[in-house]
Order: sequence, then structure tokens, then C-alpha cells
Amino acid sequence: MKSFSRLKSAAQRYARAGCSKSFDAETNRRVIVVNLFAFVGSSLTLVLGVRAAFAQDWLLGLSLAVASLLFFTTRWLQVVKQTLFAQHAAVVILVMCLMVLTLFLVITGGNSNTGPLWLYLVPPVSLFLGGFKRGLTLVVLFTALVSVVLFYPNDGLLLTHYSVEFKTRLLYSFATIVFLSGLYEYSREQSYAYVDKMRDEFEHQALHDQMTKLPNRRHINEQLKHEYQRMARSNGCFSVLLADVDHFKSINDQYGHDCGDEVLKTLAKRFQNAIRKQDMVARWGGEEFLFMLPDTGLENAHELAEKIRLSIHESPVWQNQHPIKVALSIGVAEVNKDTSIDQAVNLADKHLYMAKHEGRNRVVSKASGSS
Ligand code: GH3
Ligand code: MG
Ligand code: MG
Repeated sequence: MKSFSRLKSAAQRYARAGCSKSFDAETNRRVIVVNLFAFVGSSLTLVLGVRAAFAQDWLLGLSLAVASLLFFTTRWLQVVKQTLFAQHAAVVILVMCLMVLTLFLVITGGNSNTGPLWLYLVPPVSLFLGGFKRGLTLVVLFTALVSVVLFYPNDGLLLTHYSVEFKTRLLYSFATIVFLSGLYEYSREQSYAYVDKMRDEFEHQALHDQMTKLPNRRHINEQLKHEYQRMARSNGCFSVLLADVDHFKSINDQYGHDCGDEVLKTLAKRFQNAIRKQDMVARWGGEEFLFMLPDTGLENAHELAEKIRLSIHESPVWQNQHPIKVALSIGVAEVNKDTSIDQAVNLADKHLYMAKHEGRNRVVSKASGSS
């Protein structure tokens, strides 16, 4: 039992060698397939090569030995280099190697004219490794080449003889495998893309507020943590603003809840237009918004908050031809190496409370009385 699990983990290690976090899931899947195929390919061609050598078929033996070495190289290339280029090169070498080898077996007939049987490996392997478009193009070109070799007048390109019936059946059945492999790869890629899109959509939904389309509390909390780590490394600082709409309840009461929603959506857009690319504004909850301003000290943050407050106050939100006056109270706090994120957000909240207390429609970044 123990040796089985050891064997299993060794096999998994072998198959996963060369996978990288920097690759997407599709590329890592190909790395695994190349590893497995390289193993099967190199050992099979080696065994067949040795057999051919014992039968004193030196040409076949040598070709199979070279193929075995090339198969082995594909795995080595992607495991040692671990770059996307090396991975693509491994795929190209593997597919080309397989095509040359099978074409050679068709031309010579291989062992007792059974060589053409290996043709059936080409479509699934090429499509699986090269993807639908690239794989199919290669296989179609390969099919054309095999047809020319098989039907060249007087078997001029063959070193063996096949009956016409055999050659036509071989091509028909080969074309069927090409079609089925293509269909399989196409639907696999389609469903993969669909799952990918759905995952992105769910991820986006989980991190954004449905109504305002702004990042939600969870999203900005994650970003705050990233920013905190970046700030700690550079020994800098950043600031947070907590903005709350003044008397929003009376906007709802006066114009209706739907109108209140529209006001929040308009505010969200205006906030996003007012900040820099590296800043972030999120819907913190209800009619509260949290801004994160990287590389910004308390004074500059206060200035920006004042600019936002003024611009919102000066241009009303128009709803059904009614101008709705909106005012904001904003609390500001700086995050630096001496404050945690929670402390800074609590401080901004405290300053917001003070702004409300002092009459609303204002920005507070320091406790009154402090210098
Ligand atoms: P203050 O100046 O003290 O902040 O007064 P306020 O009325 O803004 O604050 P209060 O906390 O009393 O009320 C907030 C209101 O915001 C109550 C709630 O129904 C409303 N609200 C919260 N989320 C939404 C929303 O998504 N859409 C709408 N239309 N209203 C919302
Ligand atoms: Mg309010
Ligand atoms: Mg509130």
C-alpha cells in the first residue's frame, strides 16, 4: 500500500514537472500531456528500435532510436527551461517528430507492412497539443502529404507496396479520425472558454456592488491589504476617505427609493471620474463610500476630499427634470507604518462622525483642537 502511494506520487511528480504558476491552466495541461506522451513515445520507440536492430533492420532501428531521443528531449526542454517558448518548442518538436516518424513508417511499411497503423496517433496528439486551429492545420497538411506519398504514380515515393483498396480505406478511416478528433478538440475548447468566462463573471460579481458597479467592501479590503504591504516595503504612506451622503433618508422620502438609487449610481460615476488611475473607490455600505489613495499623505488627501465634496455640492443630480442637491460629509485618515488599516478606517469613521456633528457638508481630517 505504501509503495503504491509512493509510486503514485512519483508518477504525479513526473507528469507535473515543468508546470508553472505563471502558465494558464491550458498550458499546464499541455505540459502534463507532453510529459506523458514523451514518456510513452520515447520508451515505445526505444523498444521497437531495439527489436528492429535485432532483426538487423538498421535503418528502422536507427530512425526509431533518433525518435526516442527527440521524444525524450521534448520533456527535458520544458522541464529545464520552464518558459512558454520552450513549451511551444516542445510541442512543435513532438508533433513534427511524430509526423516524420509515421510518414517514414508509411513509406517503408515498418514491420511486416504494419507501419501505417501508427498514422492514427497523429490527429489526436496534434489537436490535443496544438489546439484546434494550429493542430487541424498541421493535420490537414500532413493528410495531403500522406495522400501524395501513397498515391504517387507507380509507388514512386514508397519503399513497399500497398494494395489500392488498403490505401483508400486507410485514408477514409484516417479522415474520420481527423474529423472526430477535431470535433472533440473544438467542443473542448468551447466549453473551456465558457467555463473561463463564467468564472470571470462570478469573480467580478463577488467583488463588485451590483447597483453602482463599484468595487464592494470585500474587494477594497483586499486592495487595502495589498497597498499596506506595498507601503510597508517602500516606507511610504497612503490615505483613506470615508464619505457619507448627508440626509440621504430625506432624498428617499422626498423623491422615492428608485430615485435614491439613481442618485447613488450617479455619485459612483462622479467619484470614479474624480480619482486617479491608481486610486480606488468602493461602496462601503448603504450611502457610504470608501476611497483608497495610494502614495497620498493626509494633507493631499484632505485637498482631494474637499475637491470631491465641492464638485458634488455644486452640481446637483438631475432626476426626472428635478435638480437634487446632494451634500457629502467626509472623514480622512492616513495609513502609515504606525497605523494598521483597521485603525485608519476607524479614525476616518470618527472624523466622518465629527463632520456630521459639526454641521455636515464638510471634510474632517484631524480631531478638532489637534495640530
Ligand atoms: P446622515 O446625514 O446622518 O447620514 O443622514 P442619512 O439620512 O443619510 O442617514 P441614515 O443612516 O439615517 O439613513 C441612510 C439612508 O440611506 C437609509 C437607507 O434606507 C438609505 N439607503 C441605504 N442604502 C440605500 C440604497 O441602496 N438605495 C436607496 N435608495 N437608499 C438607501
Ligand atoms: Mg448619510
Ligand atoms: Mg450612513
